[in-house]
Amino acid sequence: MYGKIKEHLQQELRNIEEAGLYKKERIIVSPQDAVIKIENGGEVLNFCANNYLGLSSHPALIEAAREALDTYGFGMSSVRFICGTTDLHKELERKIATFFGTEETVLYAACFDANGGIFEPLLSENDAIVSDALNHASIIDGVRLCKAQRYRYINTDMNDLEEQLKKAQKQRFRIIVTDGVFSMDGNVAPVDKICELGRKYDALVMVDECHSAGVVGNTGRGVTELFNIRGEVDIITGTLGKAFGGAIGGFTTGRKEIIDLLRQRSRPYLFSNSIPPMIAAAGIKMFDMMSETTVLQDRLHANTDYFKTGIQEAGFTIKPTKSAIVAIMLFDARLSQDFAAALLKEGIYVIGFYYPVVPQGEARIRVQLSAAHTKEHLDKALKAFVKVGKEMKVIV
Ligand SMILES: *Cc1c(COP(=O)(O)O)cnc(C)c1O
Repeated sequence: MYGKIKEHLQQELRNIEEAGLYKKERIIVSPQDAVIKIENGGEVLNFCANNYLGLSSHPALIEAAREALDTYGFGMSSVRFICGTTDLHKELERKIATFFGTEETVLYAACFDANGGIFEPLLSENDAIVSDALNHASIIDGVRLCKAQRYRYINTDMNDLEEQLKKAQKQRFRIIVTDGVFSMDGNVAPVDKICELGRKYDALVMVDECHSAGVVGNTGRGVTELFNIRGEVDIITGTLGKAFGGAIGGFTTGRKEIIDLLRQRSRPYLFSNSIPPMIAAAGIKMFDMMSETTVLQDRLHANTDYFKTGIQEAGFTIKPTKSAIVAIMLFDARLSQDFAAALLKEGIYVIGFYYPVVPQGEARIRVQLSAAHTKEHLDKALKAFVKVGKEMKVIV
């Protein structure tokens, strides 16, 4: 039975390898942090984690998780509506709503599930989804699972969004969907203008805050803080797997009736396991920390500014960014891979991205800053970029 498809799969794998697109995993043998230990490679500075606030190994979160492990045990062995809801799950949902200034929250196992389970319960073939062309894969999959009419607009292009909204007037309800921060360039969606168009063309607005929550806005409350439009976005989805601790878990937060209906009808919520109590407990602790102090956000913003300024002064070209992502443009695919390999030899761990992950001729190194980075870490990274940049004749 397996013979024929086995050959087919082997050929597929060879094709991926020959195209240079085979993804290999680097093995880490230490906690996730600014400094990590890699198998057979010693210690390196990590500039490619989504550990924006440096919380992945934060003692306060570990302590909160450990305490919950002792009092609530390991797992829930249930979906939420059968016997998978503890007081911790409810408390975390309330904290998320308070943080974003929304009415209600529903937790998922991951934001991939939150995005996968949002559209189908709310919209039918009579409705329209108007989606940014560079939205995350999980949004694209969520849209596929729903029968609504699909419209796509050019990344952050408000003229094109308006054109698509005009076309979508023939449907009953409309929703505009965008990432808050786009992960390849680090640019922020103009959510203030998107909300204006939402009002003008009678459309709901949904923002996926995975790369923006905890990061953008003075206190890290995401795009609604950045644009001073708290309470105006109807639906926010996000993850506990990036800035917010880096473990696992996703959420949808927003209008009460929307969240209530998701609890009744959203398939990844109804048919997938509840997050472990220790994850909820660490999440609660994390949101408590966020409401007490902005020291981590302040450090992240200072680190990002410092690195961005340094890399530009050295002569590198970067994409306009308003997040903790800095895309250092090398344009050539081969060069991006050689450059990343040379940086690793200097003890700097970053990833080079090239087509089809980014447009043809736009290969780059993506650097992600963290509150866990010290000034010494940033200086070491800048020095390595300058050294390799000169060696490879990217800068003079
Ligand atoms: C990472 C990410 C997700 C998926 O989040 P998980 O909680 O890891 O499933 C969804 N959307 C965007 C924009 C992301 O960057």
